[in-house]
Amino acid sequence: MPRRNQNASQSGDKPSRRTINTVQSSSAAQCQAKVRYATAEDADDALYDATIVRPDTPLATYQCLQCFGWHLTSRTRIT
Ligand SMILES: [Zn+2]
Repeated sequence: MPRRNQNASQSGDKPSRRTINTVQSSSAAQCQAKVRYATAEDADDALYDATIVRPDTPLATYQCLQCFGWHLTSRTRIT
């Protein structure tokens, strides 16, 4: 976790959770509920592990337009 400038803003010690009012799509909710991977390779690694643990569950990776990271999803949800 990167350290912020703790001395710069002592008054605004709020948690970094942002309220998304303008983009309340389901994909945003999915984004926050899912594990984010920084790169496609990381997501592929996680996909590989998940496939070993649960070979019956088809999974896929996709790049998220909310956080521009990568998530895993069950393949049945991709239309
Ligand atoms: Zn995301």
